[in-house]
Amino acid sequence: MDQSLLHKPKNAWDIYQDQESRQAIEQLTEKYVDFLSSCKTERETVTRVRARLEQAGFSQDLAASRFYATAKEKTILMVRKGRRSLQDGLRIIGAHADTPRLDFKQHPLYETCDLTLAKTHYYGGIRKYQWLSRPLALHGVVVLASGKRIEICIGEDRQDPVFVIADLLPHLAMKQNELKVSDAFEAEKLNVLLGNRPVPGRETDQEAAEKDKDRFKKNILELLHRRYGLVEEDLYSAELQLVPAGSARSVGLDGSMVGGYGQDDRICVFSAFEAFLAETDPEFTQVVIFWDKEEIGSEGATGAKSLFMEYILEDLFQSWEPGVRMSQILRNAGALSADVHGSIDPDHQDLHDALNSSKLGYGPVFCKFTGHRGKVGSSEATAEYVAWLRNLLNSAGIPWQMAGLGKVDGGGGGTVAKYLAIYGMDIIDFGPGVLGMHSPFEVTSKADLYATRQAFQAFLR
Ligand code: MN
Ligand code: MN
Repeated sequence: MDQSLLHKPKNAWDIYQDQESRQAIEQLTEKYVDFLSSCKTERETVTRVRARLEQAGFSQDLAASRFYATAKEKTILMVRKGRRSLQDGLRIIGAHADTPRLDFKQHPLYETCDLTLAKTHYYGGIRKYQWLSRPLALHGVVVLASGKRIEICIGEDRQDPVFVIADLLPHLAMKQNELKVSDAFEAEKLNVLLGNRPVPGRETDQEAAEKDKDRFKKNILELLHRRYGLVEEDLYSAELQLVPAGSARSVGLDGSMVGGYGQDDRICVFSAFEAFLAETDPEFTQVVIFWDKEEIGSEGATGAKSLFMEYILEDLFQSWEPGVRMSQILRNAGALSADVHGSIDPDHQDLHDALNSSKLGYGPVFCKFTGHRGKVGSSEATAEYVAWLRNLLNSAGIPWQMAGLGKVDGGGGGTVAKYLAIYGMDIIDFGPGVLGMHSPFEVTSKADLYATRQAFQAFLR
């Protein structure tokens, strides 16, 4: 039989065997690890991206050919004018910069057992036990009634203390061990340790000091006041997020993988942004957008369901080409919903359909549809669009794979794709594979990172 009739996905490491490619992979990874280690919230990501855009000559001037806009410091959209008219179409890449984490509740502080703790409410799909007994860092902002914004980041510097939710000792876990995982770990028990020292006593007499009911909590409040000028009420207008402390790392004896928090979806944010900065003279106008709130259903003023993108593009395009019709431009657009894919887990292969799963190291993954149980809640890319994309990547020599998520009735998920599809544009989910998705230490392949960046650039070209 003619072997060319068969399709076999190519391993990206086999393609990138030459010294030059291997070096390029390491260089890109180094930048990526730095990005991942210093951008752990959507605000931090937007701040960093905006600073680099401004260095590259982007501004908020609607007349400029290099433009950006932000929504509430949490979502950022960037546009570079192409050589062709807007009517001919756009190239859009949308990724998301929010990641699962533990948010402080609005009334976080309390004391019990002579310890001060903070109550949390998790954000996005976490497996609760993964957040116990591991060092956590506190990131976020507090806005005072005066409007002054205070940025907080504690637990990343080696000199900083970290935070932790202490897990139950095995000696007393007999009862918990009998429970289902979903019952064994309760959200109301995700309380993080803040302190174990009472406020310095104004009383000399021990008995009088102990009568002070809030003396452990007060110590933390005094500390917050000394360091940041905060009072307890300020915590109502705070966005404080607990995230895994520490840097992303190389993983494996051969160092071929990257481990770190928030790779869903900051690996696509990073790759799309690098590609966007590199591809400076495009045929079609490029739009890259990093959304917030994808992990909780793309809701709200900063999520993909909002009208932010549409409103901003309308203003911009009217300024560039007065009288153009937005409906026509968006209908002619081609888009990538840049998001990670859950690759086959070596320990849980039975949950995947081996023939239709993605593998780490085989390049970014096309996922023609998402959703669950009968494609419910999915936007499906057309055969025509998939054909065009695979031709694009094949001619650029970039490895890619085609997969679905898990077995048909085994679960599922969604992305921002369907919220862009409503304009009638072509869109497909596309991004590198991940192991341990939504865990505090997700794993990706360095070869996939490189291939993804190349693929985004080919698309934006
Ligand atoms: Mn994602
Ligand atoms: Mn996710």
